[in-house]
Amino acid sequence: MVIVLKPATPEKEIQALTESLLAEGVKVNPVIGSQVSILGLVGDTGKIDAERIKANEYVDSVMRVVEPYKKANRKFHPEDTVITVNGNTVGSKKLAMIAGPCSVESEEQIVTVAEAVKKGGANFLRGGAFKPRTSPYAFQGLKYDGLELLKEAREKTGLPIVTEIMSPHDIDVFVRDTDIIQVGARNMQNFDLLKELGKIRKPILLKRGLAATIEEWLMSAEYIMAGGNDQIILCERGIRTFETYTRNTLDLGAVLAVKKLSHLPVVVDPSHATGKSWMVSDLAKAAVAVGADGLIIEVHNNPAKALCDGQQSITPDAYAKTVADLRAIAAAVGREL
Ligand code: PEP
Ligand code: MN
Repeated sequence: MVIVLKPATPEKEIQALTESLLAEGVKVNPVIGSQVSILGLVGDTGKIDAERIKANEYVDSVMRVVEPYKKANRKFHPEDTVITVNGNTVGSKKLAMIAGPCSVESEEQIVTVAEAVKKGGANFLRGGAFKPRTSPYAFQGLKYDGLELLKEAREKTGLPIVTEIMSPHDIDVFVRDTDIIQVGARNMQNFDLLKELGKIRKPILLKRGLAATIEEWLMSAEYIMAGGNDQIILCERGIRTFETYTRNTLDLGAVLAVKKLSHLPVVVDPSHATGKSWMVSDLAKAAVAVGADGLIIEVHNNPAKALCDGQQSITPDAYAKTVADLRAIAAAVGREL
């Protein structure tokens, strides 16, 4: 971190600031000029609050030279993180194929879809039991009954379950009953939830917030990792832009950025990114082409009747075709399905 001081900052102010920084456990290298002086900080600057330093009346600007995330940073952990769930991996050569309905609706629905996506090439089942809906009057999910139905589908297919948590109160149940805990876009900065998830040892699928920068997203991963849970899968699911044709704007550049900045695996959700079922297959291909470690895709046996996100859900047949088409793309970039 580099702190640029305002011209003609008195010596005693430089001294006072230096002492407060030393007390935070970093080394301070001053470069004192006749007009402008700078303080170069080395050591673990991650804990230093740049905004607070900027509030000092003698400070002109503060620049970070190392990213504020440490545990999620590839600089400190060059090898890719590979997460293993019941023998399936996320982040290895083999792509993680997560598929299933937006929400669990009934036993028949979740079991039918689970069997169909497994046949089509999925190796994880998704399905929401607790749904973060914009309207309080919309279907909110089957909640604990939904988790029971997911367990039944897992029993029948062997597919590990990925499902969204909304409240820290449910962590014990999710640890017991699920395989990967999803943190939805709307909760990406629910810091109390993230801190609690840092205390458990269960993989977390961390979706990018609706309007989160890449750094904010990685800082949310850092919240979980700071607590000791390093099993994080990042999920790019589109961000809010001025464009309204699609539900969100799929940021495939973020996949490349995150793979460079972090060692954590990243999967892409073309369903929420577009809100349009007809775009899902082609953007899934594009995601694999840029190096995503997997895909999370909404599949429903009857999209027109879905209780949530039917417009972006593809049928099991369309899913099977997507997976078949993906094989050639995966092979071209050194991956497999
Ligand atoms: C979902 O996966 O169904 C969901 C609500 O996703 P997101 O948090 O990305 O909107
Ligand atoms: Mn959905």
